[in-house]
Amino acid sequence: MSSQTILITGANRGIGLEYVKQYAEQGHTVYATVRDLQKAEALQALARQHPHVHLLQLDVADVSAIHALADQFSTLTIDILISNAGVYPPSHFGDTDAQAWLHAFQVNTLSTYYLAEAFLPHMQRAKQARLIAMTSKMGSITDNGSGGEYIYRSSKTALNMVVKSLALDLRKFDIAVAMLHPGWVRTDMGGPNGLIDTETSVAGLRKVIDTLTIAQSGEFIAYDGKRVPW
Ligand code: NDP
Repeated sequence: MSSQTILITGANRGIGLEYVKQYAEQGHTVYATVRDLQKAEALQALARQHPHVHLLQLDVADVSAIHALADQFSTLTIDILISNAGVYPPSHFGDTDAQAWLHAFQVNTLSTYYLAEAFLPHMQRAKQARLIAMTSKMGSITDNGSGGEYIYRSSKTALNMVVKSLALDLRKFDIAVAMLHPGWVRTDMGGPNGLIDTETSVAGLRKVIDTLTIAQSGEFIAYDGKRVPW
């Protein structure tokens, strides 16, 4: 793959940080956004090693901040936009907080839509841009065999529908859009019992992104390339 410009949200830890590491090691230019730059030591260390890694502050729950960032970099071309930031507030029947639910929708669902809207001109400038949303199998209705987790599950199911509409709406601009499941990954969110590490997950995800075509736009795909049932 020739040198690409990638923008990624929630890049200070977990899967986001690993994306930055692997893309930077491949020589790509990465705009890594984080909610709090002060708490991004690992990312700052990466940026010191790789001059093509740029750190930017962005709370993805703040729609006006998304638009302000897009305006600040109005001439930038983005080949790959990865909407990765996510939250997982625990919730079960009888104990599900309404404010946490609304906030999770803001972060897990709405942010991908507003990123797409704000950065459309930047993606349109690329030869064949890709818009990637990090979703979860926990948003799959077919896969839900255990119930609970109302907040996280519903926010990711809704995200999947947003991504499907984006895929259809952005097809005319030749922008391929996909929702990717990273596997059960050992991160702060996935916990220590996750089945794979971030290196394995992101290596697989990058392969899926590299080979993503416009014909696959709107698909729900796992890090190993397999389709995930809705
Ligand atoms: P982590 O909890 O390890 O990291 C979450 C990242 O999102 C952090 O960088 C966090 O920043 C950022 N974030 C949260 N809220 C905001 C916000 N308002 N604005 C900006 N950034 C924010 O999660 P993972 O790395 O495991 O997950 C990455 C993505 O993959 C998520 O979308 C998740 O839902 C998805 N996923 C993960 C799975 C797993 O097994 N780990 C399985 C399926 C999907 P901060 O440090 O500031 O909080």
